Order: sequence, then structure tokens, then C-alpha cells
Amino acid sequence: MSTTWHVLGAGSLGTLWAARLARAGLPVRLILRDQARLQAYQAAGGLTLVEHGQACVQAIAAETLDTPTPIKRLLVACKAYDAAQAVAHLAPRLSADAELILLQNGLGSQDAVAAQVPQARCIFASSTEGAFRDGDWRVVFAGHGYTWLGDVSHPVAPPWLDDLTHSGIPHEWSADILTRLWRKLALNCAINPLTVLHDCRNGGLQQHQCEVATLCAELGELLECCGQPAAAQDLQQEVERVIQATAANYSSMHQDVTSQRRTEISYLLGYACKVATRHQLTLPHLFQLQQRLIELLQQRGLPSD
Ligand code: NAP
Repeated sequence: MSTTWHVLGAGSLGTLWAARLARAGLPVRLILRDQARLQAYQAAGGLTLVEHGQACVQAIAAETLDTPTPIKRLLVACKAYDAAQAVAHLAPRLSADAELILLQNGLGSQDAVAAQVPQARCIFASSTEGAFRDGDWRVVFAGHGYTWLGDVSHPVAPPWLDDLTHSGIPHEWSADILTRLWRKLALNCAINPLTVLHDCRNGGLQQHQCEVATLCAELGELLECCGQPAAAQDLQQEVERVIQATAANYSSMHQDVTSQRRTEISYLLGYACKVATRHQLTLPHLFQLQQRLIELLQQRGLPSD
């Protein structure tokens, strides 16, 4: 009997994973906030995944945070700012050999989660897949990509990666997951805040090449200083390549601000600035960028943390 995949957070990425695992015949249970969300889910009759224009409804089992049954495998699919608190709520339900898979973007939330559950194995993930909600309990699979998984304190891959293979979830075990997360964070810091401040698509940053280059130089210095030289390699070239390849897209941070949603700033640019301060690095443009972004978020009435 396969171990049940408990999925915490039935949002975009959580639904994308849950739907594919369930479609492969694996046991999946969604964990929803409370009784009201559970009733709403049950009334909807399941989760809808839209892939290649085709909608498919799956009546995946669901429960609330307070359901008393034990959890052995937990996929944490909340936003970075919700993850530690939600996991703390579930800590009493985790078995002694529990494993958590953390899908959060950026850095900082993984350590906050791990601190809540010191007995559990925490596996970090970095994904280039893309999904968005176009209705309650309905998710569109928008961008095919890849997910890298790794464990900073235990290099051996878990046997359940086979579940991902059977479910058609493209993935790879990574011995340097922190380097991948740092690299993605640096790319995000060089692009996303500027798209918000200039109110433009990614391609609009081609008009601000000097600003981008200055940020890349400071981010490279930061990565070198915190023991991530591989993540610093050719950073500016990759940033320029991403800007060009995604020129027509609005960044996730731009979309969040436009939709009046809270951003994950504290786990991206905020995290970079915090680590720079800890290393007593002088990175004036990065700090100025953070200040400008915080001011903009406050003007829009959005949380700046
Ligand atoms: P999302 O659509 O906002 O989903 C987050 C879900 O977590 C929501 O359904 C929310 O519930 C739920 N949640 C929050 N606190 C909870 C709690 N205490 N108990 C139960 N459920 C709780 O977010 P997302 O886009 O999937 O992103 C999740 C993470 O993946 C982020 O760190 C993001 O950066 C990363 N990521 C996303 C994508 C993507 O394409 N979406 C790609 C790569 C990485 P409610 O519905 O009740 O609010």
C-alpha cells in the first residue's frame, strides 16, 4: 500500500500536484484551512485541473487541519508566508518518520518550517512549472517545467520519487538544491521588483539595462559571499536571457500587486537584503530597490513583509 500524499494548500501548485498524483491512482488527501473551506470544496464536487484546454474534475478526498489522523508524507503547497504557521498546526499529527516536501519559492520559509518540526525530514523543492487559479477549486496548468528536489542534510534520494515518475511530474533529485534556490532567488530579485516599480512586462526591462546590470553585480557579490559561487556564475547573462525569453509575460510579483495580493517579498528580495546585512555587505542598489518596493506596496495598501 502506497503512503498517502497529504497536500497542504489546495491552491495552484498544490492542486497541480494533487491532481496528477491522484490521476496515477496514488492515495491523496487535501488539507484545507477549516470546516467552511471543506464544505465549499465538497459542494464543488472536487478539484478541476485544466490542461491543454481540457478540464478534468477529480473528487480527491479532503480534510481540515484539525482532522486527527496521522501524516507520514506532507506536500507543503502554501505561500512562503503561510507555510511555517500551517505546518506548526499540523506538527502533532506528523509521524516519527514524517517527510515534508516544501514547494515554496525563495528562501527563509524552509528553515522556518524545519524549526517547527525538528524530527521530520524536510525536502526542499524548486520548480519551473506554472499554474494559476481561474476559479475556486479550479487550476490551469500554464507552464510545463521541471521540479528539482533535494535535502541539504541527507543526500540520498527517497524511494517515493517513483510516485512522481508514475504521475508524470518531471523531476530530478538535486545534490545542490540550495544553489538552485539561490540562483532562482537572484533571478527573481533582478527582474520582479523592477517590473513592479516600472509597471512593465519582463521585456520592458530591456529599457533599463544599466539598472539590471548593477543589481546583477551586487547579487553576484552576495552569492559569492554566502558560499554560493556556482549560483553567481554568468548571472547577468541568464537574467538578460530570461528577460528576452519571457518578454511578453508579467512577472509573478507584478501579477500579485496588480491583483492586490500579498507578495512573497520577505522570502525573495527581503531575504537577500537580510543575508547581506548579516554579512555586513554594502549593496546600495539592492537595499534601495527593497526600500522603493516597500514604499510602493505600502502606497497600494499591501503588506510589505
Ligand atoms: P496559491 O495558489 O495562493 O495557493 C496557496 C494555498 O495555500 C491556498 O489554497 C491557501 O488556501 C492555502 N493555505 C494557506 N494557508 C493555509 C492553511 N493554514 N491551511 C490550509 N491551507 C492553507 O499559491 P501557489 O501559487 O500555489 O504558490 C505556492 C508556493 O509555490 C509559493 O511559494 C509560490 O511562489 C510557489 N510556486 C508557485 C508556482 C505557480 O505557478 N503557482 C510556481 C513555482 C513556485 P485558501 O485557498 O483558503 O487561501
